[in-house]
Amino acid sequence: MQTPQPFETAVMFWAGRDPAQTLAELTALGIHSGQLGIPGDLDLSCAPQWRDALRAANFRVFTVFAAYSGESYADIPTVQQTVGFIPRATRDERERRTMAVSDFATTISALGIATHIGFVPESPTDADYLAVRDMVRRICDYAAARQQTFALETGQEPANVLLAFLNDVDRPNLGINFDPANMILYGTGDPIEALGVLATHVISVHCKDGDWPERGRPGALGKETALGAGSVGVGRFLDKLRDIGYKGALSIERESSDPARRMKDIRAAIALLATLKPV
Ligand code: MG
Repeated sequence: MQTPQPFETAVMFWAGRDPAQTLAELTALGIHSGQLGIPGDLDLSCAPQWRDALRAANFRVFTVFAAYSGESYADIPTVQQTVGFIPRATRDERERRTMAVSDFATTISALGIATHIGFVPESPTDADYLAVRDMVRRICDYAAARQQTFALETGQEPANVLLAFLNDVDRPNLGINFDPANMILYGTGDPIEALGVLATHVISVHCKDGDWPERGRPGALGKETALGAGSVGVGRFLDKLRDIGYKGALSIERESSDPARRMKDIRAAIALLATLKPV
């Protein structure tokens, strides 16, 4: 059974190394569930190996995240040009890849798939908007046939734009993976307010923190920080999740390029969440 306990502490982690070793590092921290990211260049024939390692470690994966080859998060213009479903040249190949990630999720019995689809254009008559909307519909239908949800990572557009897009796609298995830090890193808006707007669509959340972009540097992203050290306000984030009736897991996400630093920050985040969660 993959369903999370309400507010269960989990971790967002990546495939690419030995599955058993990766899971051993997480279980040593007291973590037994999470979201598995699939790098764009990963050979997906490793799915049965992951299934077996997850069973052996008694570790549950709720969501399988798709990333794509050629993506870069260097700054906002680069994100617009390279991330998700927006770049035209890679659209078809990324649609096929997302469906293949859905097959991977089936093999490991995950509840759903998720991805950053990139910056959704604001105008619903824009050709890219229509193409991306139709692509999201096809992926939702593919996932639904496998009893999976499809979650869009938040942060790159304001909550009202994302809400209008969700309504336009109009698929019951479409939802949101809410990342409060992304709203800050992209300078999109107050994440707690956005969480209220998107409330009924939130399937899962990332516990990530960060600071706003520096003023006077157009196009720059803010900086990710350890959980509790940035501008999110983890206490008010959890309070708001309780207010909206959220019942899912709290997946800690930390993307430091230094693996030792990453593990240290994840350990501290686990301790922080333990002090803030309801008893
Ligand atoms: Mg995230």
